[in-house]
Amino acid sequence: MAADTLFDKILRKEVPAEVVHEDEEIMAFRDINPQAPTHVLVIPKTKFESFADLAEADPEEVGRYIRGVARVARELGLDESGYRVVFNTGPQAQQTVHYIHAHIIGGRQFTWPPG
Ligand code: AMP
Repeated sequence: MAADTLFDKILRKEVPAEVVHEDEEIMAFRDINPQAPTHVLVIPKTKFESFADLAEADPEEVGRYIRGVARVARELGLDESGYRVVFNTGPQAQQTVHYIHAHIIGGRQFTWPPG
């Protein structure tokens, strides 16, 4: 069984977070260390440890999660300006919480390549 993570605790409301959206499928909350004016993390209520694990899931479930991420970005008012969606996966990408989370980051001009 997968280890309990900080985001399991946020989902169970055992750790406080600034939740910006919650429905049957997903929870979205503000990152505690924002990298842009808007920085929100979106987790599915069904747990996957990483992006690689999500890719093995039922396509309908994957689709609902991705649609949820896009919906949160729209609700945050980022559709017109644009935004980044980042899934840090594994050690070189510096994934620190092993509960899949999409970073939605926006509200400023980004550069490429990322750091
Ligand atoms: P990652 O490095 O992709 O695993 O991202 C984990 C993210 O969780 C980081 O951007 C952290 O700033 C963020 N984070 C850590 N603790 C909290 C917390 N208590 N509430 C909200 N975000 C958090």
